[in-house]
Amino acid sequence: MSRMQRSATTDDGRRRDLVRPPAPEPLPLPVTDTHCHLDIGDGGDDDTFGPDQAIAAAADVGVNRIVQVGVSLPSSVVAVDLARRYSSVVAAVALHPNEAPRLAVDGELDDALAGIDRLAGAGDIVRGVGETGMDRFRTGPDGIPAQEESFRGHIEIARRRELALVIHDRDAHGDILRVLEDADLPERVVFHCFSGDAEMARYCARRGWFLSFAGTVTFKNAGSLREALAAVPLEHVLVETDAPFLTPHPHRGRPNASYLVPLTVRAIAEVVGRDLEAVCSTIQHNTEMAFGTW
Ligand SMILES: [Zn+2]
Ligand SMILES: [Zn+2]
Repeated sequence: MSRMQRSATTDDGRRRDLVRPPAPEPLPLPVTDTHCHLDIGDGGDDDTFGPDQAIAAAADVGVNRIVQVGVSLPSSVVAVDLARRYSSVVAAVALHPNEAPRLAVDGELDDALAGIDRLAGAGDIVRGVGETGMDRFRTGPDGIPAQEESFRGHIEIARRRELALVIHDRDAHGDILRVLEDADLPERVVFHCFSGDAEMARYCARRGWFLSFAGTVTFKNAGSLREALAAVPLEHVLVETDAPFLTPHPHRGRPNASYLVPLTVRAIAEVVGRDLEAVCSTIQHNTEMAFGTW
């Protein structure tokens, strides 16, 4: 896209501001973006902003590590490659819940799962299996059985390979908890972009699972998500961008990248009523509990 183009029209007809938001004030202590898609273009007006720039801009504001997340077999290969290339990046590999039904229709789900299993064994640079889970927002009832089969397959891989299970849960809390109840789980379970209410948050924390909060927790209309955050011990909280999606307030709709994590961390500190240093160091410690150190 032309560098002169400063806005675009989305599918639903809204104008999108493509100007990259300014860097926020750096954090006093480092944190990790636990869920990012460095390989998905964000439509920003500066088309020179690739993984090199995204990683450097993040480090400048105290976001010193990134978990790069795959959503298909090819993008999981990319995730592993990025983790090989950058010492600050580790990979999670998976078929996205909305990818699974498409693969199942073509009879390719089993082969794709075997491919994910092989990538999950690529060594210490791979720390998670995900994002997997259920999504009733983009997948209709016909696709749900394949989605659940894929989710269960990923759980099995994560458990056998002793990796963190990274869960995508969109409008599917009941399904996710039902599957987690009767599956043999890995030791570490992470709800990426947690979207449940306070009751679900308490339940997840009691089970020892991690809740990763994205820019959504900064949105004006996210009162119930902030209640969920306030309802759990900080020891269960992680932070992420899900970049290039879910840009935090006040830049909602503009391109997202890991360097905007400080906006979400500051919002978390405000909600839990703790000072920023304590929040950064606790979240960083939690990240190491969930994904190890690197
Ligand atoms: Zn997701
Ligand atoms: Zn994601």
